[in-house]
Amino acid sequence: MKHIPEHLQALVGQAIKRIDTPALIIDLDAMDRNIERMARFAQQHGVLWRPHAKLHKSALIAHLLEHAGASGHCVQKISEAEALAEGGIRNIFISNEIVAPTKLERVAKLAKALNAEGGRLAIAVDCEAGVSRLAQALQQAQAGDKAMDVLVEINVGQNRCGVEPGEAAVALAQAIAAQPSLRFGGLQAYHGGAQHLRTAAERKAAIEQVLKYVNRTCHEFDRARIAIPLITGAGTGTMVNEAASGVYCEIQPGSFLFMDADYASNQRDAAQPLFEHALYIKTQVMSLSADHAVCDAGHKAHAIDSGLPRLHALPAENALRFANGGDEHGVLHPDAEAGNTSGWLPALGETLWLIPGHCDPTVNLHDYLIGVRGGRLKGVVERIFTVDGRGALT
Ligand code: PLP
Ligand code: MN
Repeated sequence: MKHIPEHLQALVGQAIKRIDTPALIIDLDAMDRNIERMARFAQQHGVLWRPHAKLHKSALIAHLLEHAGASGHCVQKISEAEALAEGGIRNIFISNEIVAPTKLERVAKLAKALNAEGGRLAIAVDCEAGVSRLAQALQQAQAGDKAMDVLVEINVGQNRCGVEPGEAAVALAQAIAAQPSLRFGGLQAYHGGAQHLRTAAERKAAIEQVLKYVNRTCHEFDRARIAIPLITGAGTGTMVNEAASGVYCEIQPGSFLFMDADYASNQRDAAQPLFEHALYIKTQVMSLSADHAVCDAGHKAHAIDSGLPRLHALPAENALRFANGGDEHGVLHPDAEAGNTSGWLPALGETLWLIPGHCDPTVNLHDYLIGVRGGRLKGVVERIFTVDGRGALT
């Protein structure tokens, strides 16, 4: 795990006001409630939950999730898997395709290392070349007798990765089974585009379509007399649908842990646990004009691909609208429509908390997450998390 510098370590036990800005803060009370609600949801629905670590990229958080009952962790990249493994995580699924031989060498090496410790690395594929190259890499690494679990990703409507549902998926499973170093581990069936459809009805309809693709594929596996050990997929937006389907055995939401402004714009499904915002950017006012204030968090402090951050916990008469001021600046305007008719602005040096538009890429902009407990006003720093997989893009 990454080293925590002394000045940050010294914050532990200190009041929140001692945290310099801009900083990425986790409200640990809210995060714990999110974890607890997810664990209960999964138990009630009889599904496993394998949270996606692309969100937090932190081995310590992965350990907390495991402690609460997570069945393991998803990652998108071999470098993310390596970062988690370095921090003691032993059960990892790369829910993504890897075909480059240099990366597959690393996959084979990590699979061998995790196997030796009683752990497990699994991976998704969507073409035969991916299967044969992986098998070759495992052979070269002399990865041992234990076969590696390989899941067939099917294209369930996102038109990103994935083999076409049905017979093509069966053929790929057969190609996996033909390799002594590989074992067919099941189906990866995730629809990213469905997560942020705004109404619960739209998301339900999208997953009904996904289920048609999955069921058609299951039918072809039945015909070929091949058992499917696991069907996995789902994100925070649609998980209620996959969990209730009776088809998915595992869900892989990530964002539920922190929730972002974009997810807050989704109409909540009645069956969805109440997930709270738990990730904030603490910022302060660094310049003031007659009609606007400027804070020290620009888009180097938060990702803006899914919209700008929102201001947290300001009463209507103090409502502010965040405008992008560039890399290092955020411009704050009185939001008259929301109730700030007096033109109120925060004072120079005043602290504000922002809710990021999109939590995954926001975390990836930071080296540390500062975990606080006890509320925004009276809370204290409890622990510092390193973003171990920050910049892990390969
Ligand atoms: N599974 C896969 C394959 C993903 O790509 C993602 C996110 O992009 C997730 C799960 C988690 O989704 P979310 O963070 O929206 O819960
Ligand atoms: Mn995301």
